[in-house]
Amino acid sequence: MSFNKFCAKCGKDTSALIKGHCSDCYLGKKELFTIEKPTFSVCKICGKFIFNQKWFPLSETTISEKILAKIKYAPELNSPKPFVEVTQVLNSDVLMYEVLIKVEGFIENVLVSQEKEIVFKIKPTTCDACTKLNANYREAVVQIRAEKSEAKKIYDTAMSMLDKERETNSLAGTSKIIEIPQGYDLWIGDKKAAARIVRAISKMFDMKVTTSKKLIGEDGGRGNFVFRFTFCLKKK
Ligand SMILES: [Zn+2]
Ligand SMILES: [Zn+2]
Repeated sequence: MSFNKFCAKCGKDTSALIKGHCSDCYLGKKELFTIEKPTFSVCKICGKFIFNQKWFPLSETTISEKILAKIKYAPELNSPKPFVEVTQVLNSDVLMYEVLIKVEGFIENVLVSQEKEIVFKIKPTTCDACTKLNANYREAVVQIRAEKSEAKKIYDTAMSMLDKERETNSLAGTSKIIEIPQGYDLWIGDKKAAARIVRAISKMFDMKVTTSKKLIGEDGGRGNFVFRFTFCLKKK
């Protein structure tokens, strides 16, 4: 023999009662979770977005990771399980996202769930790296010296390698490209990225590398000298 159980408030016939109430009546205006509206900005030039002073490549996956980290659960909710769905709002002249957050969990062994929707804009900005590159900043100059058609091939390879580097390091781009009859000069913001592509290209195209450096200043008075590197890639 089983006893029918009813919600003390709405009279609903259910055995899933929390303190004598069905989950809807128990929850009422209670919040199972709260979420602070995130503030993201995106660089108009490199497309990376900033969150908590750090840069990330903009994607719906990264947005949902950041949102998940911002969810705060009610203390009585056990084993909370969040679901986040990020959708870009189209027909908008600014970058805008709509996020549906659903949280499931248990209160006194009764499964409860709640949904919230937030909409936010991504503020356009120019990141530090892109500001530097716009101002002709360069830690390294890569000189490509080869016969015209081959120089173009090497140049294209270097540029696609830089695009790859730029996915994780916005400074690994060019601040200036100079084309001369003997080849190309690429002004590159990050010297490590420049050194990496020079190594790869010298192997790929069988080229000789000559490295020189020039003192360009001192770093914050700590006695560290700052050098600008020139890597010259020449056909053997
Ligand atoms: Zn009820
Ligand atoms: Zn940028």
